[in-house]
Amino acid sequence: MSVWAVVAAAGAGTRMGTQHSKTFLPVGGVPAICRAVAALRSACDGIVLAVQPDEQPEFERVLASCGQRADGYAPGGSTRQQSVRSALQCLPRDCQVVLVHDGARPLASTELIRRIVSETMAHGSAIPALPVTDTIKQVADTGDVTTLDRQCLRAVQTPQGFLLERLRAAYERAGERQFTDDAAVMEHAGMPVHLVEGEPGNIKLTTQMDVRRAEAMLGMGASRAGIGFDVHRLAEGRPLVLCGVRIPFERGLLGHSDADVGAHAVIDALLGAAALGDVGTHFPDTDDRYLGADSLRLLRDAVRLLHENGCRPGNADVTIVAQRPRLQPYVQDMRARLSQAMGIPASCVSVKAKTTEGLGFEGAGEGISAYAVASVVRAVV
Ligand code: MG
Repeated sequence: MSVWAVVAAAGAGTRMGTQHSKTFLPVGGVPAICRAVAALRSACDGIVLAVQPDEQPEFERVLASCGQRADGYAPGGSTRQQSVRSALQCLPRDCQVVLVHDGARPLASTELIRRIVSETMAHGSAIPALPVTDTIKQVADTGDVTTLDRQCLRAVQTPQGFLLERLRAAYERAGERQFTDDAAVMEHAGMPVHLVEGEPGNIKLTTQMDVRRAEAMLGMGASRAGIGFDVHRLAEGRPLVLCGVRIPFERGLLGHSDADVGAHAVIDALLGAAALGDVGTHFPDTDDRYLGADSLRLLRDAVRLLHENGCRPGNADVTIVAQRPRLQPYVQDMRARLSQAMGIPASCVSVKAKTTEGLGFEGAGEGISAYAVASVVRAVV
């Protein structure tokens, strides 16, 4: 039997905040449409994409960039149903089974797609579905709320498989009436639909959060590393503050803020991991707001910036290089202060103190330096 796929990719990514097709969005560095087409190719003889006509050249370019191509393009309509109807007209004469898929579902596995094909051949249709785990409420126009019986509900996905002849007949029956999936078009025509088990990972990209979920499921882009480094000069008449802990010593670090090298190195590592700049860009030493500032406050501000960009700190490891004073007694306090400011457990924060055996500016007591490595995690929920 000749098996073809129809991919609906004509929708605008309004809720995704993109003007172009959301299927162009990279998921783990690969455009969603390329992932969807590559998976379908494993079980289909040909693939027709329903796209907005002015976007066809971009689809061709994006697919080619991943070594993929479509076997045909159909002009997409203003609704999903119009787009699929248009693509059904473009299938070759010998096509008997059609899989209708959403271009914004990049994670359907080849195993699922092959199963949809074989179940369609055996039962005339195959619709991937999952039990509903949330309790679903029905809200009437009047505001009255009723609870639906979860046992009777299923969440359905794509690709949905059909015998082409039957799906075309169902589309004839549907006329201009709109449905949200092709199984519903079949149901309206009084034709049975056969449900098969879907995949929890086969999510549809609707918002940016879905892209992050998809990447997390691929184990990609989930965690990123950054590096930070800082030096301040030791001077008379200044307090010594390291990683938020005030340490008794005859001199302290010179700087516009409290000159906490440990905290500054951690901030730079976190900002670096998220590619969000550095201490100097966010807390410039020309700004009087940061004169004598507590650097843990700056660290909290940096963490807030991460959150605003969909990230959170994962861990941090900082090494402070100082000949004197002896820092070991303060290490646990430093870990506690940093972890509080970062909003992560102290078990995720490491502080180490080193000397240079008298070598270099740290060894001569001219200054103190700090190195930090930190990870940030893309927030999935
Ligand atoms: Mg500094």
